[in-house]
Amino acid sequence: MAGDEITLSSPLLMLKGVGPGLQEKLNKLGLKTVADLLFHLPLRYQDRTRIYPIGTLQDGMEVVIQGEIERTEVVFRRRRMMLVRVADGSGSILLRFFHFSEKQRQGLRAGALIRCFGEARIIAGSPEMVHPEYRVNPTADGAEVEEYLTPVYPATDGVGQTTLRRLVDQALNHVEIVAELLPPELLTGNQPALADALLYLHRPPPEAQLELLREGMHPAQQRLAFEELLAHQLSLLKIRASAKQHRAHALLPKGELARRFLDALPFDLTAAQQRVVGEIENDLRQGQPMMRLVQGDVGSGKTVVGALACLQAVEAGFQAAVMAPTEILAEQHYRNFSQWFEPMGLTVAWISGKQKAAQRREMRALIAAGQAQLAVGTHALFQDDIEFQRLALVVVDEQHRFGVHQRMALREKGASAGSAPHQLIMTATPIPRTLAQTAYTDLDLSIIDELPPGRKPVTTVALPNDRRADVVERVANACRAGQQCYWVCTLVEESDALQCEAAEVTHAGLQEALPDLNVGLVHGRMKHAEKEQVMTAFKAGELHLLVATTVIEVGVDVPNATLMIIENAERLGLSQLHQLRGRVGRGSGKSSCVLLYQAPLSQSGRRRIKAMRETSDGFAIAQIDLELRGPGEILGVRQTGLMQFRVADIIRDSSLIPAVGNAAQRIVSQYPEKVDPLIQRWIGDRLQYREV
Ligand code: ADP
Ligand code: MG
Repeated sequence: MAGDEITLSSPLLMLKGVGPGLQEKLNKLGLKTVADLLFHLPLRYQDRTRIYPIGTLQDGMEVVIQGEIERTEVVFRRRRMMLVRVADGSGSILLRFFHFSEKQRQGLRAGALIRCFGEARIIAGSPEMVHPEYRVNPTADGAEVEEYLTPVYPATDGVGQTTLRRLVDQALNHVEIVAELLPPELLTGNQPALADALLYLHRPPPEAQLELLREGMHPAQQRLAFEELLAHQLSLLKIRASAKQHRAHALLPKGELARRFLDALPFDLTAAQQRVVGEIENDLRQGQPMMRLVQGDVGSGKTVVGALACLQAVEAGFQAAVMAPTEILAEQHYRNFSQWFEPMGLTVAWISGKQKAAQRREMRALIAAGQAQLAVGTHALFQDDIEFQRLALVVVDEQHRFGVHQRMALREKGASAGSAPHQLIMTATPIPRTLAQTAYTDLDLSIIDELPPGRKPVTTVALPNDRRADVVERVANACRAGQQCYWVCTLVEESDALQCEAAEVTHAGLQEALPDLNVGLVHGRMKHAEKEQVMTAFKAGELHLLVATTVIEVGVDVPNATLMIIENAERLGLSQLHQLRGRVGRGSGKSSCVLLYQAPLSQSGRRRIKAMRETSDGFAIAQIDLELRGPGEILGVRQTGLMQFRVADIIRDSSLIPAVGNAAQRIVSQYPEKVDPLIQRWIGDRLQYREV
């Protein structure tokens, strides 16, 4: 026997019954090695370990029954079918077959004993099974039923359950080759050893609690989830450690520019802003690159925090860059930073993908020569032709989706003369704590958990589309009373072009209905100069009403705007609704938000609208969003590679995360030799540390 040669990395070809053809099909399932097979866990289980009395069946039970055939008949009820009546003394059940052969029918004679496996349905009070698996005249011996709960594996064409079970059985004969990587003191309470957990999950005993297994809450599953989360945590800690090995410019100015900036501001920083500013200031004084994520709900005042970080770099003699995800937000930052910094004798450059070649050339030159201390722009800031003379800080605004790979790339790119730039990432999308602890382990976190004083909560109402006329009237009244309003047109999943067109139509309609008001329009397909002009006019109060697409979703700040209408609100995700609503309630005036929806609402649509009406707390909203949509949606596609778990579920298993965090620290400090094997086991080469 070749048995004792089997290792975790043995190709499946080594197993009995696997030839090149089957091996190829197994590869398609992602199964290449014996280890892959051992970690190929059942999706669910069937209980074929006992025979249920027919009289005890409940709707939806997937069970084995056994009884005597009373009658078999072929009938026509809309379509031809075979009905088989089976009784066992406790009750009787009807088996229904829509496809059957003559031979099959003849095998099902009255008086014969039959054993069936299938899902029971209770129809009009009596049990039925449609197309059960069955055997006529099974040995009456009850020992013939299965010894274990039957696993149902993820399968594919040509690799069915039987094949998978047979191969897993062979692999399980060698399950002890799965090394235990966790030191015993990290395994608490009822956590089994890894090999035992795997064995249990592939072959659960009859008394296993199916309910727990179904929910993924069985200790064996939790043991695997724990180790998987741990491996992810370790991989991020490793990225973080490698980041800390880079050098950065220590920024040690006297703080003169910051003082002048703060003196000129018409308000004082909130305590939360001050705390976060202090954390950043301290980071920037170090000789390693800062990697910090600032979370602050919409309107919490992140921009001034970013500005202060820039001033620290500038006063220390370096350059800073501020990047925003949309043109509109980048333009707003450019306006703000210019107004703040130019009176101090500083030069602010502007870079956008849409600017004219001549302007871009001029801006590039300012940046390359170090004449511009600050550059503001979109992603275009990091295109190859833009070279900074002495870049020491990058501020990335409203970009929690800026993934770990992008952060690493930015570090490489901005690196000059052996120094990586400091990175400050700011987001208004609160990331639920458990998620942040899992996805952003490579970043330090700061939270601005306070809004500037005097803000009043935004009142939110939801109205069906047939109340649109009332809404228009409400807008008219508000505008005539000197307030400013947004009207947001959304078309989810349609093209950008259609969305802009819808906004144009709405704009024309509203301007016609409200001839005494100035109605503006802004959308993504307009020219840069046009958008700029419209936003400036709105900000200056020259426009009463601004019709917009979701381009105004993030960052736009017009404190005098107090009313927002969102069309098709039922189609937007919660985080997006929260961001949009954050455009109002930024000043001291009382603000409202009207969610217009198309009835009838889906269940999740109703839940989202309810959440919007009930809370304005971004963290609460993010938690609900996480439950409704899962982490991939919140973190963005780029992050999901990091968040694809085989066993763990970030929501279900969030209670494990604190212990995972502690275990990770402990392993790094006391068992560093376990780090790479754990990462290798669970993540493999999905995470490339060096080449990104
Ligand atoms: P966000 O965190 O959403 O990016 P902004 O930086 O745009 O918020 O700030 C929102 C508004 O609050 C701006 O008009 C800004 O000038 C104002 N603001 C910021 N900090 C304070 C403060 N401490 N007191 C009063 N207003 C503030
Ligand atoms: Mg902002």
